Amino acid sequence: MKQIRKNARKVLFCLCGLFLLLIAYGTYSITTSGSRWFSSSLNTFAREKRGDVIAGDILDRNSETLAATIDGVRMYHADAQVRAAAVHITGDRNGNVTKSMDRVQAAYLYGFNMSFPERLSCVFSGTPRKGDDVQLTVDSHLIAYVASIFPAGKAGAVVVMNYQTGEVLTEQSFPNFDPQASAVPNLSMKPFINRAIDGLNAPGSTFKIVTAASAIENMADYATRAFHCDGLLQAGSRTVTDAGTNMSENKITQHGELNLLRAFQVSCNNTFANVALSLGDTRLRRTAEDFGFNDNFLFRDLIVENSSYPTSNRNDGELAWTGAGQSALQVSPLHMCMVASAVANKGVMMEPRMLLKATSQKNKIRAEFSTRMYRQPLTEAQADTLKGYMGAVVTGGTGTAAQIAGKKVCGKTGSAELDNQENTNAWFVGFLDEPASPYALAVVVENAGGGGSVAAPIARQIFQWLLQNGYGG
Ligand SMILES: [Zn+2]
Repeated sequence: MKQIRKNARKVLFCLCGLFLLLIAYGTYSITTSGSRWFSSSLNTFAREKRGDVIAGDILDRNSETLAATIDGVRMYHADAQVRAAAVHITGDRNGNVTKSMDRVQAAYLYGFNMSFPERLSCVFSGTPRKGDDVQLTVDSHLIAYVASIFPAGKAGAVVVMNYQTGEVLTEQSFPNFDPQASAVPNLSMKPFINRAIDGLNAPGSTFKIVTAASAIENMADYATRAFHCDGLLQAGSRTVTDAGTNMSENKITQHGELNLLRAFQVSCNNTFANVALSLGDTRLRRTAEDFGFNDNFLFRDLIVENSSYPTSNRNDGELAWTGAGQSALQVSPLHMCMVASAVANKGVMMEPRMLLKATSQKNKIRAEFSTRMYRQPLTEAQADTLKGYMGAVVTGGTGTAAQIAGKKVCGKTGSAELDNQENTNAWFVGFLDEPASPYALAVVVENAGGGGSVAAPIARQIFQWLLQNGYGG
């Protein structure tokens, strides 16, 4: 009998322990990924709740209204072009854009954070409940400008962020559509996907930022080692080519004798393949993971698809192409903007933030902007060296089309090849190295050609707009 009681106590003790663990795990999940839960279409509670609460307004950083509910109908920015350009940020009436702010910030917009007395006061006053207003870090004027210069008829994405604070000024995707038009947009180019955070693709040569970072960290002679490029490099069963801008004519570019800095400037695939082979897969992957590859991005304000650095089938051919940014690498434009931001910000990568303020209908401030460091992939000295490399790309390399007279622009171009496309994806990631204008960006134009000729000029125009519109300068 005594033995049974003893055992029963043990079992009870274990059960209590398990229960406490479950509560702890539940609390942890809600605090770390609560916004994911609220935004999930599987969350029937949130879906039903939305029905009896009037959604709060969404405002931009200048307090311009991006979305508001008028007579029970969700209305978006008064200018049709602006509301189409911002559709991936705000969301749309039919809920086709799934990771937009009306989902991610649902906890505020639909009043899930209301206190019991607040709810009670709504019941007694007989007024319908309205959720909190949410002010974002984005700038609707910049959003409109970006949409006006993005190549017509092309798919792609643009992200602009403050690399010191993580504030996202815009993250937009093309093609877009009018969130309050009744007509169904042309679905052939997948307009509902937000390519800025969800469009995983090969980073192409923009990944050379990571390969170069790994070389600076791990190769003692990185600054002096001489490389030789004759345009073709045999690595295992694969050949790494330097097609330059003549890919369509199948011409091979031979860069000859060059050091790492020059190779970065002219984006030499052969050199970066050689660098990857001498680093080895473990070292290169470790650097990539320091930059956030293979991590689960649990950001508070944005749901960003995870980037991946492959962990299997790593033969020499794969590794060599990885060093040059091809093979099975997958990134989102927002993540590449964060990579450039870390170089700009003394090696510190800030978490991207989009919530400036959440305010109740009685003017109670429910949440306010705060910065948070995501990680530090580089030392300040390494970041400084890499910044010099990225500066050289713009002053005398593949990114000269991003130059602005009298301002320091740093960047890296990319022309990523995709199996199912005729043309390359044009990439430019970079930043203004100006204390009063700490802004980084990523530009991707799909199936459009070279990064230097297609994406770099767009980057220049965006930097120029920032400098002329109250962002330093
Ligand atoms: Zn080369």
